[in-house]
Amino acid sequence: MTYALSNARIVTMRPMDLGVRRGTQLCDLGTIPRGFVAIDHGTITECTAGDPPAGMRSIDLQGRTILPGWVDCHTHACWAGDRSNEWARKLSGVPYLEILASGGGIMSTVRSVRAATAEHLTALLVRRLHRMLALGTVACEVKTGYGLSVDAESKMLRSILSAGTSMPGMPVIPTYLGAHALDPEHPDWVRECIDRALPAAARAVPGISCDLFCEKGAWSVDDSLRLLERAAGLGCPLRVHTDQFTSTGLVPHAVRMRAKSIDHLEASTDDDLRCVAESGTIGVGLPASPFALSTPYMRGRAFIDMGGAIAIASNWNPGSAPTPSVAFAAALAVRHMGLTPEEAITAATWNAAHLLGLESDTGALHVGKAARLQVVDAPDERACVLELAGGAPALVVSPMGVSGCDAALVAAATSADPR
Ligand SMILES: [Zn+2]
Repeated sequence: MTYALSNARIVTMRPMDLGVRRGTQLCDLGTIPRGFVAIDHGTITECTAGDPPAGMRSIDLQGRTILPGWVDCHTHACWAGDRSNEWARKLSGVPYLEILASGGGIMSTVRSVRAATAEHLTALLVRRLHRMLALGTVACEVKTGYGLSVDAESKMLRSILSAGTSMPGMPVIPTYLGAHALDPEHPDWVRECIDRALPAAARAVPGISCDLFCEKGAWSVDDSLRLLERAAGLGCPLRVHTDQFTSTGLVPHAVRMRAKSIDHLEASTDDDLRCVAESGTIGVGLPASPFALSTPYMRGRAFIDMGGAIAIASNWNPGSAPTPSVAFAAALAVRHMGLTPEEAITAATWNAAHLLGLESDTGALHVGKAARLQVVDAPDERACVLELAGGAPALVVSPMGVSGCDAALVAAATSADPR
């Protein structure tokens, strides 16, 4: 049955033929000051100015704002274990190196993931995907990378795929991140990651993106390049975490190899930022990490002014970015990376959808697309990045159904579109 969300301000992200938005295009939200979105069986059938036709069932949004749902293009949401104790020790002043030496840090998550069954990992991830959806995230990426062995990486990948099938209507895009860290007890991991685990991932999911973490203490530039060459040979699109703490020198190589994205970029030089900005590679800002670690942020303003295509994501993980909220990341991008609210919204919806290859039906509101949208309880879309830690939007509509913190709206949408 067709119903309309009416009397609303609407962020559409039109025109759709712009592709990934860069530079000044990032401010272009294609906003309709007052209009309605008609939805039939989870698909948008109208999205236009004015009022819905007489006779169409209509939910009056009383001037609230409709936006595309968030697309979280960088997460580590598949993990097991809990690092609250470690955090408490850190807060009490125990030096990080001491925490690492006593088995804390990323290796503590790796041990928990290795010990977990695939079924348990899947169940934990499904719970987290529901939390993300409740916060307005209608599609996401999830990386492997806490296995660091052929078997454990493959178990993580199976769990991510299986969690995705439990969430029909919420695209969950897996990424192979075997090169997330080095295991001090398995010095052979670099070779096994390149020669065995990556090809296994590419066989299991043809065309899966291959990611890595190049940093002091993690993967070296030389090993990163060997992995990227192998991944490109297997037909895997390339993604890279680099320059989080130090300028590694990997950026020009990754751009030359046509990486889909380079993520972090906090410590990048001007030359490296310009190199990404002038290429087809998307720069992904992950401001929840510098917030949690009190380290410098990516210079998003400079990158956009250089003409760069930027996306923003949560980087949700149990250590350096403990948040499932894209809205929070976008709010940090406005406060600490120099983005305007409009740029942050584009970066966390339309551009993020492009990075994941989901732009044909996600990240914009357009006739014929799946209805993946959020309604914020404000007359202006900028409110959703002005507000901090505001929690769930008033209403979230996706092929998964409806949710939201406004009980009356949720009840009205549920009865209009019972599924
Ligand atoms: Zn990451």
